Amino acid sequence: MNYRILTGEIEHEANTFSKVPTTLEHFRSSSLLLGDEIPPARQGTRTALGAAFEAAEKFGWTLSHPLAASATPGGVVTKEAFEQLCAWFLAGAEGCDGALINLHGAMVAEDCEDAEGEILSRLRAVLGPDAPVVATLDLHANVTEKMATNASALIAVRTYPHIDYYERAWQGAELLDRALRGKIRPGTVIAKRPMLEGLDGGRTQIGPMRELIDRGEALEESAKALVVSVCAGFSLSDIHDVGPSVTVTVDGDTTEAQRIAEEFMDYAWETREFVSARDIDVSIAEAMERAKAGEAGADKPLILADISDNSGGGAYGDATNLLRAMIAADLQNAAFHAIFDPAAVQAGIAIGVGNKGRIMLGGKHAPEMGGGPLKVDAQIVSITDGHFRCYGPSFLGGGAWRSFGPSLMVRVGGIEVAVISHLEQAVDLAQLTSLGIDPLHCATVALKSYHHFRAAFEPIAREVLLVDGGGVMGRNSLSELVYRHVRRPIWPLDQIKL
Ligand SMILES: [Zn+2]
Repeated sequence: MNYRILTGEIEHEANTFSKVPTTLEHFRSSSLLLGDEIPPARQGTRTALGAAFEAAEKFGWTLSHPLAASATPGGVVTKEAFEQLCAWFLAGAEGCDGALINLHGAMVAEDCEDAEGEILSRLRAVLGPDAPVVATLDLHANVTEKMATNASALIAVRTYPHIDYYERAWQGAELLDRALRGKIRPGTVIAKRPMLEGLDGGRTQIGPMRELIDRGEALEESAKALVVSVCAGFSLSDIHDVGPSVTVTVDGDTTEAQRIAEEFMDYAWETREFVSARDIDVSIAEAMERAKAGEAGADKPLILADISDNSGGGAYGDATNLLRAMIAADLQNAAFHAIFDPAAVQAGIAIGVGNKGRIMLGGKHAPEMGGGPLKVDAQIVSITDGHFRCYGPSFLGGGAWRSFGPSLMVRVGGIEVAVISHLEQAVDLAQLTSLGIDPLHCATVALKSYHHFRAAFEPIAREVLLVDGGGVMGRNSLSELVYRHVRRPIWPLDQIKL
């Protein structure tokens, strides 16, 4: 039998504390592909959709691929954008026998805290109660009962930095095909605890996340479970169902699955205070001393990651404190990625390649925290349309084309600075090389990222230092967040004894 399968993606992680709502324009900036635009963009890439296309060929499915939409993490998705995305997506679901889709799991829309739960329940309504629906997720998903009930299986990535979307989608495809042929009847249950955060923020190298992922994979290998997914949650979403979760998918009766999920979450609760890495290694001043001291004769770059302006967590990407310090320290053979500032890009275009001029950079969204606008005398070295083809292995997907929108590389003293029109954290070397920056031969490379940069940049680094640049995700600002919608009591906001 030839099965018709819905595939596609709607991906967004909402930082509900961000003051910039996420609109369709933000999706267009990152990736918004409809229908026939999708195969040439995703076939042959190491993405979830790349796997879906290959699986369709192997299993003889006919794919319906109405939508592939993702946007850089940011504020709550507007009602208009959410409804339009759902309309596109669900129109392609009509007449399908099953679904293999990629969602994030921490999307929040206006009037809808549990956006993925809503998408899955609407999809379930179209496909009917018996159609298998498999969704891959980010491991920072805030998974809900509604998601578990409406999906047949939820398969979260198992790496952070996330580099296994392709493998997880293939796992989902195998499971989906067995379900379509009536060999299994997958059902999914969920367990949670009153935790706002935990599982070491999702770090998969060592610690409780590693332990639970290994235990889950052992259960899959011994066929005691079809899928075990461990999610760390995303604590910058001020929603009722925030926090870590374990979902277990089994064939048929779910009693034992629930017991496993509860046992796993007991462990997550017991280890909730475990932290494997310091949040900050050095102050900006110390980072500058280390950079200057190691500059001469460096054969590999010192990587400075400003965790406070990480757009991957919903920060604005236009903080200037670290760049200002690098200019003041007169760093040589250095690179900085990036200042998100479409107006500055236009100013650079007006000055023209090869010319020098004065530009105001960044500091627009949270000037009281990140350092405010920075006036520089810059040489315009390159202007591009922002397109680059990913080397991998990051979540952007090796082989996939992405874009920052119109972009500049400007030289300020000895520092090559990327200025971009669409916001994205630095996770792929091509984001620099496409602008003419060679990170391999820099003495110092400054990035704005918390952990995802490590997949591509740690292998080329002589050392990595995490710096708090004072932006909205800096330690001081995060400690001042006021939660209003999370369920209470919840750790660590409240004292709880279980
Ligand atoms: Zn994530």
